[in-house]
Amino acid sequence: MSDAQTLTRKADFPGMMTANGKPWHYLDTAATAQKPQAVIDAMSNALGRDYATVHRGVYSRSAEMTLAYEAARRRTAGFIGARSENEIVFVRGATEGINLVAQSWGGQNLSAGDRIMLSQLEHHSNIVPWQMVAQRTGAEIDVCPLTEDGLIDLDAMEQMLTPQHKIVALAHVSNVLGSILAAKRAASLAHAVGAKLLLDGCQAAPRMRLNMQELGCDFYVLSAHKLYGPTGIGVLWAREEILDAMPPWQGGGAMIDRVTFEKTTYAPPPQRFEAGTPMITEAVALHAAIDYVDALGMEDLFAHESALAAKLQAELRSINSIRLFGPEKTAGIVSFEMEGVHPHDLGTILDEENVAIRAGHHCAQPLMDHLGVPATARASFGLYSDESDIDALLRGIERTKRIFG
Ligand code: PMP
Repeated sequence: MSDAQTLTRKADFPGMMTANGKPWHYLDTAATAQKPQAVIDAMSNALGRDYATVHRGVYSRSAEMTLAYEAARRRTAGFIGARSENEIVFVRGATEGINLVAQSWGGQNLSAGDRIMLSQLEHHSNIVPWQMVAQRTGAEIDVCPLTEDGLIDLDAMEQMLTPQHKIVALAHVSNVLGSILAAKRAASLAHAVGAKLLLDGCQAAPRMRLNMQELGCDFYVLSAHKLYGPTGIGVLWAREEILDAMPPWQGGGAMIDRVTFEKTTYAPPPQRFEAGTPMITEAVALHAAIDYVDALGMEDLFAHESALAAKLQAELRSINSIRLFGPEKTAGIVSFEMEGVHPHDLGTILDEENVAIRAGHHCAQPLMDHLGVPATARASFGLYSDESDIDALLRGIERTKRIFG
């Protein structure tokens, strides 16, 4: 199942039609993915028919919901090749996962004189939490440059890394350029100086087969809503021994072992990092989303989206007024600008044609500074995308050209 048409599953996605029943050319999956009916049904059943709290009730509905919640954790662990479900912490999303690592691990392991390595293409979610912990601890941040075609320059990083670097935090796939990190090399460079590697997998998890053992990183974060699941839940993966040594970051119910006013002891991971009533229905729906994409096959999904991206790039290259950003090989994400047309104007005209692209800085302002633009237009594909979406985008670009003369 490797040609671009075979994966297209628009019919599974009620969100892929406009209100008047016309096809909607949704090219903003990098922001958030549409949901298949199977995920909507799972969430609806969990909120209705099956709803109860987890981990506390002695009644059977609660016991069943606890089993479903923990089954979602096990399914997630298997899906990303974790060694154990104890390595899976459910968080609100990738943003919360990075904040958790920065505050808990960073608060414990960083101090004045230490350094944090980020890259020029990071999402604000993988910059600001590190700035906050740097301010608190006195650690300092270095920024790894990009190669000319928009990859994180690992040769430069090798030169820059020192034993003072305690953590390297990089996007596995860029949300703007679609560039794919050579993750194993990044891991060995980080480990060679004794640093840990965190990968921001927001854009990789919906597009690539992941295996935590093979990647060699120490922390991995992802958001379920980009993986065809619901908002409000994400995953922090970390090696069990690293989680074991990390202090809790939020206090409350469910994360404790024993509480007295004199002294509180904490539960082992992952519960130590899941204070409060967790995202019960969201976890059940994430499980359904993983079942859905896994049945399609992550390898086919990657081939499908990168083939569409390559086709779009080739078409855009033949239009004089278009400047493309990023490498030739991308994971289904294409950024560009149109001479004399602000991306917002392009996005507005495309919307009239039922084509939804993203226009803006994509929460990556330092990358925009590097590219020398305030914003880009971004088309990103999902498993439901097909060539009709590219055709509609190209028609919209032609119309925009006529409007702007
Ligand atoms: N990192 C990357 C690369 C992203 O694309 C996003 C979402 N745009 C995030 C982090 C943040 O994800 P969330 O808003 O779901 O926490």
